[in-house]
Amino acid sequence: MADQPSPINVNVDKLPEVLSILPLFDAVLFPKMVLPLMVMQDDSIQLVDEAMSGDRVFGLVVSKQGSKEKYGPEDLYAMGTSALILKMAKPGENRAQLLVQGMRRFRVQEFIEGKPYLQARVEHIQEADKKDTEIEALMVNLAGLFGRIVELSPGLPSEMGQMAKSIQDPGTLADMVASTLNSTIDEKQRVLEILELKKRLKEVLRQANRQKEILELGNKIQNQVKEGMDKQQRDYYLRQQLKAIQEELGEKDQSQFEVDEYRTKIEEKDLPEDVRKEAERELNRLARMHPSSSEYTVATTYLDWLIALPWHESTKDVLDIKKAKKVLDEDHFGLEKPKKRIIEYLAVRKLKPDSKGPILCFVGPPGTGKTSLGRSIARAMGRKFHRISLGGVRDEAEIRGHRRTYVGALPGRIIQGLRRCESNNPVFMLDEIDKLGMDFRGDPSSALLEVLDPEQNFTFSDHYLDVPFDLSRVMFITTANILDTIPPPLLDRMEVIRLLGYTEDEKIQIAQKFLIPRQREAHGLSEKQIAFTRGAIRHIIADYTREAGLRNLEREIANICRGVATRIAEGESVAIRVRVKDVARYLGPQRFTPEEAARIQAPGVATGLAWTQAGGEILYVEATAMKGKGNLTLTGQLGDVMKESAAAALSFIRTHAAELGIDEDFYAKMDVHIHLPAGAIPKDGPSAGVTLLAALASLLTGRKVKKGLAMTGEITLRGQVLPVGGIKEKVLAAHRSRIHTVILPRQNKKDLEDIPKKIHRQIQFQFVDKMMDVLKLALEK
Ligand code: ADP
Repeated sequence: MADQPSPINVNVDKLPEVLSILPLFDAVLFPKMVLPLMVMQDDSIQLVDEAMSGDRVFGLVVSKQGSKEKYGPEDLYAMGTSALILKMAKPGENRAQLLVQGMRRFRVQEFIEGKPYLQARVEHIQEADKKDTEIEALMVNLAGLFGRIVELSPGLPSEMGQMAKSIQDPGTLADMVASTLNSTIDEKQRVLEILELKKRLKEVLRQANRQKEILELGNKIQNQVKEGMDKQQRDYYLRQQLKAIQEELGEKDQSQFEVDEYRTKIEEKDLPEDVRKEAERELNRLARMHPSSSEYTVATTYLDWLIALPWHESTKDVLDIKKAKKVLDEDHFGLEKPKKRIIEYLAVRKLKPDSKGPILCFVGPPGTGKTSLGRSIARAMGRKFHRISLGGVRDEAEIRGHRRTYVGALPGRIIQGLRRCESNNPVFMLDEIDKLGMDFRGDPSSALLEVLDPEQNFTFSDHYLDVPFDLSRVMFITTANILDTIPPPLLDRMEVIRLLGYTEDEKIQIAQKFLIPRQREAHGLSEKQIAFTRGAIRHIIADYTREAGLRNLEREIANICRGVATRIAEGESVAIRVRVKDVARYLGPQRFTPEEAARIQAPGVATGLAWTQAGGEILYVEATAMKGKGNLTLTGQLGDVMKESAAAALSFIRTHAAELGIDEDFYAKMDVHIHLPAGAIPKDGPSAGVTLLAALASLLTGRKVKKGLAMTGEITLRGQVLPVGGIKEKVLAAHRSRIHTVILPRQNKKDLEDIPKKIHRQIQFQFVDKMMDVLKLALEK
């Protein structure tokens, strides 16, 4: 079916003036180059047929538009190439395969009509071939560059580089390179259209250069990717080899070793069923991981946790009530009520071991023995003790842990504590439950609720563990300084046991029996080497540490022990007795002056009693007046409630001015300023009402408030005195400050029951219902 080519005999210098034109759209034919072509349209096939029967010459011109049904002259470039058909075959009815060779460039003069295909009268272009040095240089350059391109392109036969070097004709060299390059059709056409040799060479150089850069860059990227691949493959290969060698030697690789180790540990440990399943699942994941991956560490850490937790391990409870009493008394002086309640609690446990008793909550100022009571309970029961401080915990995750998907995730504090205790029935002390925070990170109190609720806590879920842990055997004890800020649902679950604070006498005894022996031992001193006189202890308590609890007292005793130890170590003395006059030597000048209660030297100052987190405290109110127009100024960081009390006191005095012997119009002529030191500490609450009243009345009547007298109570506009809270703590504070008379609301009389006899002997209590009575009792005549 293919027409065999007849011998080709065409004279390049005698090409016909009129050529049949075939449009080209995906290639450019350069003179002397060979190009395969596929022709499909009827008119084009007719063109080819007619050419084949003639001299086999026709013209090829690139189309500007790409492929198209019908071509007009306007679609074609003006410069083309005459071509000779080297071979023709017809694989199908309307297809022709051609192999053509380029002959010469031509420029179209005009298109001629009359045939189904295009015909044009053309001007054949005779190319110059004269060389100068610049052309030679350009040629060497181009041939070299082309050689490099051939090297970089795996698709080009390597002989092409050599061949380029052997081409003598500059135009041909440029054409050959341009036709081989991977440039666009437009770029190739541009080369075809440049007749001036230098220009053509330069254009091809430019195109070749760009192609070389692209190829080099591609090569570089390839190499980088390959390097990465190679390293991975190499590692993998080596590891496989290592494995094979180890197996051959009967050894196992490290990770396999570790996986096996975990497997035995899991088998040996008595784990609950669901935990075992979870552990095995994680173990199977582990076996598939690479030991240096971060996931591997996450998995082993998790397994460590599962294995370490005391799922079934517990200590045996000692529920010997006599022994418990003994332990509590050994560790603590006084505290009769709390001790009694604790013993009752233990007794119930003894009779009904699975009873879900309430959770004890010790409430009281710092240093009153809350933590040490908890410790004693654990000791008495033979349980482990663990303390968790909740102060400032705002994040639910602190209680419940972070999910394992977080980097560096850990279980919450409850589970951490259990791991440390190595038993599932320790005594857990949740300290400062009143300081629990809450914010966007979730509400830790709801998590705590689950921990403390006996109905829920046998399946406590920690986010990290993801399997439930039974907390029902843990004994929870909580502590707080005040009750007000404990979330009510939590408070509901707890039985409150109050610790008030100690009187001076109690503190002296505790110091002698507990604190001094403990500190002595801690500093490596013997009983002979250090002794405190009773007076010295009292001096420390009264003048160095004015507090409800024992924290500072213990600290100051430790300071003295340190000082004494130093002196003994330096050989200054062998035994030291600490007397009243020696205290300042170790602790510096005294911090509180006993005269503080006698600060009242002028009218306008009154002493109140306040109740804070640290227990009771003395609070002074100072009032002063100056010329003005009836303004009331309040300073010392007072809260709204306290400000309102001050306004109410002032209004009461104005309505009762005549009765009190005050000029009824006083207010029009003066400004009143009330200040409460210490000015930096925020103060609030209604209980300073009577004190504000007394200070104002004293100022306006000019009668001083009696010395050694303090008061507390809420006031109303109608002249009533209402009861307030924290009476016991306040009375203890008054006692510490050597106050001898305390005015209290009558309804608070019942609160004095627990106050030690000794205080009753030293303080006179006066009870009032009416504000007028406060003034009668408080102001000097
Ligand atoms: P809290 O937990 O209430 O702040 P701590 O339990 O830490 O107080 O007590 C502070 C110090 O005082 C501890 O060294 C404690 O042993 C001691 N302490 C407190 N109350 C007594 C007491 N009644 N008898 C003996 N020591 C006590």
